[in-house]
Amino acid sequence: MTPAPTPGQSRSQELFDRARAVTPGGVNSPVRAFNAVGGTPRFIRSAQGAWLTDVDGNDYVDLICSWGPMLLGHAHPEVVAAVQAAVARGTSYGTPTEGEVALVEEIIGRTPVEKVRLVSSGTEATMSAIRLARGFTGRDVVVKFAGCYHGHLDALLASAGSGLTTFSIPGTPGVPESSTALTLVLPYNDRVAVEAVFAEHGDRIACLITEAAPGNMGVVPPAPGFNQFLADTSRQHGALFISDEVMTGFRVSRSGQWGTDGAVEGWRPDLMTFGKVMGGGLPAAAFGGRADVMASLAPDGPVYQAGTLSGNPIATAAGLTTLQLATPEVYAHLDTVADALRAGVAEAFTTAGLPHVIQSTGSMFSVFFTDEPAVDFAGASRTDAAAYGAFFHAMLDRGVHLPPSAYEAWFVSAAHDERAVQTVLDALPAAAQAAAAA
Ligand code: PMP
Repeated sequence: MTPAPTPGQSRSQELFDRARAVTPGGVNSPVRAFNAVGGTPRFIRSAQGAWLTDVDGNDYVDLICSWGPMLLGHAHPEVVAAVQAAVARGTSYGTPTEGEVALVEEIIGRTPVEKVRLVSSGTEATMSAIRLARGFTGRDVVVKFAGCYHGHLDALLASAGSGLTTFSIPGTPGVPESSTALTLVLPYNDRVAVEAVFAEHGDRIACLITEAAPGNMGVVPPAPGFNQFLADTSRQHGALFISDEVMTGFRVSRSGQWGTDGAVEGWRPDLMTFGKVMGGGLPAAAFGGRADVMASLAPDGPVYQAGTLSGNPIATAAGLTTLQLATPEVYAHLDTVADALRAGVAEAFTTAGLPHVIQSTGSMFSVFFTDEPAVDFAGASRTDAAAYGAFFHAMLDRGVHLPPSAYEAWFVSAAHDERAVQTVLDALPAAAQAAAAA
């Protein structure tokens, strides 16, 4: 399905043609393409609060929020001012700065990590955490879950092999088998599979890594107690438990997903990874955890990890200001907005007679076009992608920019006010009818 560009998209179309001539698919990250839903990606000229404005002058309520980072909305005046002030002081020094210390202290103040190292992307954070776990434990095997995305590092771009406890095969060309040969991929939320893999390979497993609440197969929340079970099982076998909060961190609560389970149940991950919100829309990410584990990292310890732009002063200023402004009121507002949108979605799809399930963690949610909840990747894959494509375009035509894929979370921000929410609610009934007709 490739809808013809309408006159109101001619500049986006022109830029997309130019982009495709010089960049694969015309985009610098595949999720930005419209391959899954058809049509021409909107080239965005500017963004303010909850709204995106494209190069043809069309406005959209933004439910992507840069795939998570824009917790406060776009161009928040205090974040802009902090960034401008930082730029005026110079863009990068390659020396330690006060801003890095303050950002790391803010992260430690909100989460159970004791020491933190700053990096520039979520991929770098998980890659470094895995190297550290292997270096610290002296073991090689990594366990992950199907449908959890941790960035594009080779070791984790793995697909499940045939048997339950067989080592996995590369999930993409370009990743050698040797890179995934030490990765085991299990079905999410499956305690039996976790127990079986630790029973068979326990003394070789360096770490188990999971999204704290998966958002990359659509939102598939952990069953109650599942993260605690993972933390306990890993510990029993001398493996590290790595909770990837790149997406959920500082978004689903002040303390991320851990704030909703670990903090309540009284356990902590050995290592955690962060990104997105903590960079306020600039490239900043982090990994951190137990002080004794982090002590293995260079220059204190033997495990090497580094970065020219790590802790960049502009990114650090944007991230620190964003976290300082992310008050309990902000999280309460996100929850209220998400509740209103979920209620609107449920009503529109019920009226349209379309089977659907809405799954959430905090204010992050996604809509599956299925009649049963998805507890793992196999379940999430059953969603009706054609129905989503029709729904996506009907929403876009009515001024709402959803993620251009059925397998993504919807994100809201502190700037999603009544007008933004009403625009989404007004668009939903006709879009639900379009989805039902697809
Ligand atoms: N981990 C998770 C849970 C993510 O959602 C992502 C990105 N969507 C990453 C890691 C990788 O982050 P980045 O795109 O910044 O490399």
